[in-house]
Amino acid sequence: MKYVDEFRDGALARKVGAKIAAEARPSRTYNLMEFCGGHTHAISRYGLKDLLPANVNMIHGPGCPVCVLPIGRIDNAIELAARPGLILTTYADTMRVPASKGLSLLKAKARGADIRMVYSSADAIRIAQEHPDREVVFFAIGFETTTPPTAVAIRQAEALGLANFSVFCNHVLTPSAIANILESKEVREFGTVPLDGFVGPAPVSTVIGSGPYEYFAEEYRKPVVIAGFEPLDVMQAILMLVRQLNEGRAEVENEFTRAVGREGNAKAKALVAEVFELRRSFEWRGLGEVPYSALRIKEKYRACDAEARYGITYRSVPDNKACECGAILRGVKKPADCRVFGTVCTPENPIGSCMVSSEGACAAHYTYGRFKGVPVVGAEA
Ligand code: SF4
Repeated sequence: MKYVDEFRDGALARKVGAKIAAEARPSRTYNLMEFCGGHTHAISRYGLKDLLPANVNMIHGPGCPVCVLPIGRIDNAIELAARPGLILTTYADTMRVPASKGLSLLKAKARGADIRMVYSSADAIRIAQEHPDREVVFFAIGFETTTPPTAVAIRQAEALGLANFSVFCNHVLTPSAIANILESKEVREFGTVPLDGFVGPAPVSTVIGSGPYEYFAEEYRKPVVIAGFEPLDVMQAILMLVRQLNEGRAEVENEFTRAVGREGNAKAKALVAEVFELRRSFEWRGLGEVPYSALRIKEKYRACDAEARYGITYRSVPDNKACECGAILRGVKKPADCRVFGTVCTPENPIGSCMVSSEGACAAHYTYGRFKGVPVVGAEA
């Protein structure tokens, strides 16, 4: 298939790996965070670590939308779904995230709540149209990539006069999370998370552009290379980061030029600005309360705001004590550091959110990393 196969060429990936090995200085380490869960997935799936020298260390970041959703928000959604007659709609991965009292949306559904999996916010609108006598709530999660479709749904509901439709908005922002990590004690004070640079997100950057990362390059002296999700994209981005670090540069570079520009998608950004505004603070799993890191629905679209309509109150709930998701999302630990990884906690029986979505670090490691002889990139071709 054109445009995909050429970015999965195993021989070429090995050549890029050899270049990285030749250019990485043995006297130092290169600690690179892949912010995005899609990159974590690609690194595990294609065995890219096997192509890197030992002194190039990849650290997982918090860029998996399901993983960063705190338990309290899932509890809120389950409470909503328990309201008589209400239909809760949400994306598939959200269904299996563990909540309080051993529940999840999937288990709540099994107990009788009307919770429906949708592929898009447009599906939620359709369900509201099909059930004018029922309240329909879209449980919206995700980074900047999924925010514009939620904005479209809200605008559409208003245009259609769909009074039975509302959105429980939990959209979060990538640059705030990067800033939070760079300001964390583990990075700034203790040095337990040595961070030299970032592989920047792919789909998020198609919306926001490469511009917002310039701050991190300038203020924190951390290079950022935006990369696509294919294995050659990731390998090339790592090579570009190694070169920047060798040359003492800290710039924003764009490997994913086929989809990302500096300004991003102006239309999508305008739509988001029309419907949403910044929250003062939002709790992230792993990162805790992060100021101005999430969006809420503007007053002018209040009729579509489920938080206002149902008086949703957020309560912070601690993670399962056995689960290391918080530390993994901060880059402090790796999935194998968790005592229950692959034993008690598996994709079939996730204890924490990082084992739920394919973008979660634990799920990626479990699926692709724990068996010997996993083929490296291109071997399946
Ligand atoms: S293996 Fe399971 S319990 Fe452990 S950190 Fe990962 S998701 Fe949490």
